[in-house]
Amino acid sequence: MSPAAYAVLDLDAVQHNLAKVRSCAPGAKVMALVKANGYGHGMLRIAEALHNTDAFAVARADEGIRLRKAGLKNRIAVLEGFICAAEVNDLLEYQLEPVLHSFSQLEILEARKEQEALTVWLKIDTGMNRLGFKAKDFSAVYERLKRCAIVRQPVNLMTHLANADDKNDDMTLKQILQFNQTVAAYPGQRSIANSAGILGWPQSLTDWVRPGVMLYGISPFPDSTGQELGLKPVMSLHSRLIAVKQIEAGETVGYGGRWMCDKSTALGVVAIGYGDGYPRYANTGTPVLVNGKRVPLIGRVSMDMITVDLATQPDAKPGDKVTLWGEGLPVEEIALGAETIPYALVCGITQRVQIIEN
Ligand SMILES: *Cc1c(COP(=O)(O)O)cnc(C)c1O
Repeated sequence: MSPAAYAVLDLDAVQHNLAKVRSCAPGAKVMALVKANGYGHGMLRIAEALHNTDAFAVARADEGIRLRKAGLKNRIAVLEGFICAAEVNDLLEYQLEPVLHSFSQLEILEARKEQEALTVWLKIDTGMNRLGFKAKDFSAVYERLKRCAIVRQPVNLMTHLANADDKNDDMTLKQILQFNQTVAAYPGQRSIANSAGILGWPQSLTDWVRPGVMLYGISPFPDSTGQELGLKPVMSLHSRLIAVKQIEAGETVGYGGRWMCDKSTALGVVAIGYGDGYPRYANTGTPVLVNGKRVPLIGRVSMDMITVDLATQPDAKPGDKVTLWGEGLPVEEIALGAETIPYALVCGITQRVQIIEN
């Protein structure tokens, strides 16, 4: 029997999505984002499925070390860089490529004696205001890095887009312009585009692209699904009905009695809840597939169970298959119903969910 809550991963879809990246950004090298456990899909299995990418990117050094220990030979960028000298030792040992974004990192590198041992990505903050040097500091930082023995020359140059998922926001073009002007006179490979850049902003395409969510078949835009963009969803989350019962008008369902029945109906109880990563704030009406057909979620999501209205499916019975997102039900739509983003849904799958590779 299949486990109660399980996620089926279509690993062939990952290659399809990588091919889509390459067709949108012909000639660009691809740095595939596998941070946060491969957006919840399992970092190592996704990295293996992406064996032919030009590089991986992770947020933290420990993620990169896990990739190396698993035997992956591709280049690996570490987006949060490092904060102390001991971490530089790890980066050297495992040949990881840190993003440089602060003066304290620069000082740590200036104190090192190794020769051309570390490939680095110099990050410019063009408006995200998270990590990166301001444009006004760029040339001074670049010159100091040029004199760092440990750094392989020329350094790679990058920035990150803050609002590329909004195709009407001119901030993106301003960021691209500021980046291009800042680095214009300097050698080094450039990288700007995340998924939204790759799919929506051709001006952001340059030597390297950095797709994340689109590799998992998910749209970076709030108004479209991955499928509409020619992507294939990788994760489908499933469970099953464990009880079906009749409830009468005036009865309430679940904690807090948040949903009251206005006419008698069949109620289904599904073995999935926030303890599996199904979103606690999914609203009544969020779609769920029972035997491939849509029914609405009703009442509060609890830790282990949700309840659905089976009025349109009088024959549904315990053991029937339920799909929470993925195959036939875009995760983007569930994110809208739960007032979150699809990134957070797939990242949030918990250990209890059994993974089945397909
Ligand atoms: C996560 C991340 C990406 C990928 O973003 P997506 O929206 O998932 O494509 C690219 N660049 C940086 C710096 C990131 O942190």
